[in-house]
Amino acid sequence: MHVLVTGGAGFIGSHTAVALLERGHRVTIADDFQNSSPKVIDRIEQITGTRPGLAAVDLLDEEAFDAAFASASPDAVIHFAGLKAVGESVADPLRYYAHNLGSTFSLLKTMKRHGVRSLVFSSSATVYGDQQDPPYREDGGRLDATNPYGMTKVMLERILSDVAESEGGWHIGLLRYFNPIGAHPSGLIGEDPNGIPNNLAPYILQVAVGRLPEVNIFGDDYATADGTGERDYIHVADLAEGHVAALEKLSAVEGARAWNLGTGAGTSVRQMIAAFEAASGHPIPAIVRPRREGDLPRSWADTTRAASELGWTASRSIADMARDGWRWQSQNPNGFAD
Ligand code: UDP
Repeated sequence: MHVLVTGGAGFIGSHTAVALLERGHRVTIADDFQNSSPKVIDRIEQITGTRPGLAAVDLLDEEAFDAAFASASPDAVIHFAGLKAVGESVADPLRYYAHNLGSTFSLLKTMKRHGVRSLVFSSSATVYGDQQDPPYREDGGRLDATNPYGMTKVMLERILSDVAESEGGWHIGLLRYFNPIGAHPSGLIGEDPNGIPNNLAPYILQVAVGRLPEVNIFGDDYATADGTGERDYIHVADLAEGHVAALEKLSAVEGARAWNLGTGAGTSVRQMIAAFEAASGHPIPAIVRPRREGDLPRSWADTTRAASELGWTASRSIADMARDGWRWQSQNPNGFAD
């Protein structure tokens, strides 16, 4: 299959491009490099021996995107492109709604014009809000979110489902990611956040490599085993393989279908710090701070649906995630910057 990967130079997009190429699919990446580096394209080629096609285009530029789409002529799309910083979305909701919704509208209109109706969408476990206790089930109730970033995912899931209902022929997978971390085992691609990381794993890695002094533990008085927050961390390579599995099963889906991509197990902040200390061989100082507003105590996936319908389960351990994350960070202490 020839797959157009929007946001394919980003963290999850680049690992998915690698997984697709390794499965023998053709890949064209559409990315405006607003939050990613063109170096990723070279690294994907280094890993796989195949250079993906590239459309350096902003999805919001409908004319340019349409031309790029026509020239690539893909069979299916995996849509990663979008803004994803929770704090930024609270500070500037209009930008987040306009960008994430607008770029998806442009994509859907373009796909319709060209008769392409197979789409895998990057959603997030954030759509579960605080409506359920873990493990979160895809059909466990109303979707909700506690911030504008998360609401763009809730809204886009709804919009995609409405589009799929409105006419036959659409095959849409809504992939709800838990907490993707780690990196390709080559150390050539990985997560490269702008500024000070918001997420735990990249923050720990920057402490391990000496860019930041200590990890802030946001609360140790939760009703969890050691009092710190528990999350379902998933190796980005497992997540990438989940996309390939969803894409290959998409033709069996009439309309839109949601699948959780997680491991089904929770790991605490303190356990994560210990795993990265073991992987890096560096002490990782940490200090307990107040709870971060909006954080849930615990989150993990019910993985039954993805296992039975996609034939996919995550196989890599927390130790694998810490080892591969550390390899990426130690080989590229400044990410993709020179
Ligand atoms: N966390 C933390 N310090 C940090 C960043 C995160 O203690 O600097 C905690 C956070 O409270 C949560 C877990 O680590 O329990 C994962 O947070 P992250 O932001 O990575 O993911 P999310 O909250 O979006 O699931």
